[in-house]
Amino acid sequence: MIVETRIGSDLQEAADWLQRGELVAIPTETVYGLAGNALDEQAVVKIFEAKERPLYNPLIVHVANSGQVSALVQEWDQQVQALMDAFWPGPLTLLLDRSPAVPDLVCAGLPRVALRMPDHDLTRLLIEQCGFPLAAPSANLFGRISPTTALHVLDQLDQRIPYILDGGPCMVGVESTIIGREQGKWKIYRSGGITQADLELVIGPIEMITQSDMPVAPGMLPWHYAPRTPLALNEPPPDSGDRIGWLRFSTLSPLVPGEWQFVLAPDGDLYTAARRLYAGLHELDALGLDYLIAESVPEKGIGRAINDRLKRAAMVRPQ
Ligand code: AMP
Ligand code: MG
Repeated sequence: MIVETRIGSDLQEAADWLQRGELVAIPTETVYGLAGNALDEQAVVKIFEAKERPLYNPLIVHVANSGQVSALVQEWDQQVQALMDAFWPGPLTLLLDRSPAVPDLVCAGLPRVALRMPDHDLTRLLIEQCGFPLAAPSANLFGRISPTTALHVLDQLDQRIPYILDGGPCMVGVESTIIGREQGKWKIYRSGGITQADLELVIGPIEMITQSDMPVAPGMLPWHYAPRTPLALNEPPPDSGDRIGWLRFSTLSPLVPGEWQFVLAPDGDLYTAARRLYAGLHELDALGLDYLIAESVPEKGIGRAINDRLKRAAMVRPQ
């Protein structure tokens, strides 16, 4: 269905749409989310439709207070509480055993629900005002580049959703870190805005799950976050054409025109690189070049989340 998509910062208008079971794109510190009432299966279906997201790929539920958490999960223990105290609001998603209140579709039938409290005042106010939690995947078409500004959302979802709540550019810029426990052991299912070292200070050793160890791999598809222009890591492949754009870490390459390059972090800081990652990909993609080459960033801290996204953006997707 084609609808007019408006951009604004009117909390009441955003809440009205959501209360009517419609979708609104919301700002968070990670990336913009495509939100609907997490407790309303009809609204959740619309999220999958608008994004063209396969139904087996579950959604993260965004909460504004601990009362909402209690309604969505079974009990939680002191370690989980310590994680919430340390990292919420913030880019940490916890997989917790779900309560019957959570629609199956939100969890793709899995036993746990993914929860987080976003670190964005406007969005937390919106959730409070709605009175229900919001299911929200990133506000892009399935498999494409995640949005970190309201205009990025408009680019991909124009005429698919009625409202984009503009809360400015996202301050972290990569998705949340997703963690959960298996037989009492903590695992990182997706690297993101909170680093392994940050987590280990609170809960001790935590293992990073790699793709091949994933028993169920909801949403951790190898290809993801992809621009329309083909992308490779570090080296141009032999058939990459003449017009090659570069996503660089901290310096311009002397070998290619400056206007075909995007430097993620002129200051060399990995947090700057994360914040500008998707904007860089959007900008280079819009140039309509033959190929994009992304330089890997140092594999430490939030750099691991950046390299993870770049690797997936470089995967050839099945047709
Ligand atoms: P996105 O909304 O695009 O950031 O993706 C959310 C990701 O969180 C999914 O693709 C899954 O990998 C993970 N996830 C969300 N909910 C669950 C769940 N109930 N069980 C396991 N993984 C989940
Ligand atoms: Mg996504």
